[in-house]
Amino acid sequence: MKMVDIKDLTFKYTSAEDGLEKFAVNGVSLEVEKGEFLVVLGHNGSGKSTIAKHINALLLPTTGKVIVAGMDTSDPKNLWNIRSKAGMVFQNPDNQFVGATVEDDVAFGLENKGLPYKEMVSRVQEALSFVGMMDFKDREPARLSGGQKQRVAIAGIIAMRPSILILDEATSMLDPEGRQELIQYIEDKAIRKEYGMTVLSITHDLDEVAMSNRVLVLKQGKVESISSPRELFSRGSELVDLGLDIPFSALLTQKLKNQGLIDCEGYLTEKELVEQLWEYLSKM
Ligand code: ADP
Ligand code: MG
Repeated sequence: MKMVDIKDLTFKYTSAEDGLEKFAVNGVSLEVEKGEFLVVLGHNGSGKSTIAKHINALLLPTTGKVIVAGMDTSDPKNLWNIRSKAGMVFQNPDNQFVGATVEDDVAFGLENKGLPYKEMVSRVQEALSFVGMMDFKDREPARLSGGQKQRVAIAGIIAMRPSILILDEATSMLDPEGRQELIQYIEDKAIRKEYGMTVLSITHDLDEVAMSNRVLVLKQGKVESISSPRELFSRGSELVDLGLDIPFSALLTQKLKNQGLIDCEGYLTEKELVEQLWEYLSKM
């Protein structure tokens, strides 16, 4: 089932600088299947956030269509339904807090949904454990570190159990280990198992790219490519031109291939690399 269907989306805005019309997004088409983990990459200003905001109808297309779970975002009747299906976490967590404590904050959206008290308490606990913030439940959100705030913001959305989770650089302030852990958890629990969520994540973290099903690369408001992580990493030095950091294992694969030491399609994971090198060394 198609969770998101973007058809030839264009979004124009009037530049404050010169008063001219400019394209933030220019003719993008994209389909995201239910349960898919899609990563969106691209330079600053390439249109990533603009596309994300179209998925929960924060923005409406200048031309083209955005269909979310079968609902057209440009039909005002669908607005409430779309917003409850598509939960978005932004980069800056400070603008997203409403509660006096971490716990209140995560409960806020659930209260608005009118969930029974018991269900609410269990969802808040579950979401806070999910992001590793249970010990902070009585703290004031404003006093947390950037990474902790991002965890709480993610918990707030997870608790709502959206069908689509949109992360717009929402883990950028976490340390690499914390980020890896959280994304792994989202992948394991939210996508694969319990909730069957669809995840669209805008990120610079190429470890996260490696865990995704597909990668959309945007360039100046257009689709530069849509590929598997493996295909993407196999582009080697081109990735640098796209402004992306290449993960260590992909870089090493590339170097070893260039030296003729290993022979493979695309890039290898760390484990595969070790195996290949072991094989090579034992033949020496
Ligand atoms: P990204 O998230 O990839 O960094 P954005 O989607 O935020 O990019 O923005 C794409 C481009 O469109 C940027 O150059 C941004 O400044 C511009 N832009 C988008 N919406 C507006 C707006 N409403 N007013 C002014 N500029 C905008
Ligand atoms: Mg952005």
